[in-house]
Amino acid sequence: MADLNQILKLGDPRLHQKCAPLEKGELDQALEKARTMAELIAAFRHQYGAGRAMAAPQIGYLKRLIVLNMERPQLLINPVITDKSNEMMELWDDCMSFPNLLVRVKRHQTCRIHYLDEKWQPQACFLEGSMSELLQHEYDHLDGILATQRAIDERSLALSGHLP
Ligand SMILES: [Zn+2]
Repeated sequence: MADLNQILKLGDPRLHQKCAPLEKGELDQALEKARTMAELIAAFRHQYGAGRAMAAPQIGYLKRLIVLNMERPQLLINPVITDKSNEMMELWDDCMSFPNLLVRVKRHQTCRIHYLDEKWQPQACFLEGSMSELLQHEYDHLDGILATQRAIDERSLALSGHLP
């Protein structure tokens, strides 16, 4: 099983860097990284019982790439989020880069995501609820923004198992 120590943790400066767009010539390399990420998501879920997606900078690959691994691994290359709803949702957010910490954040209830798939074909998808907040979280990683920076206020942090 993939070694979870490959996932960069809160405090690593690479998690705060803005990632560069992926070039088409880098696709093979990205597919290789995506395989590792999909394995890490599965391993994380095995250990912690949760985990659906991760962003490339979480393994130190500073490119605009998100991997979803729910029913199957799915690549979102150079994603762009549009049509963010004015309506917001509040939730306790988690992250594979700080597995025992929860952060109360606000996210847009719905949005649309545009991206290139693993065949470099443009795709778009309307997102709501848990998928909407998930992809907003992963997208933030590509700009070097962590959920901790989205904390609603100074009481918005909790260790897992200790929600207020
Ligand atoms: Zn995260």
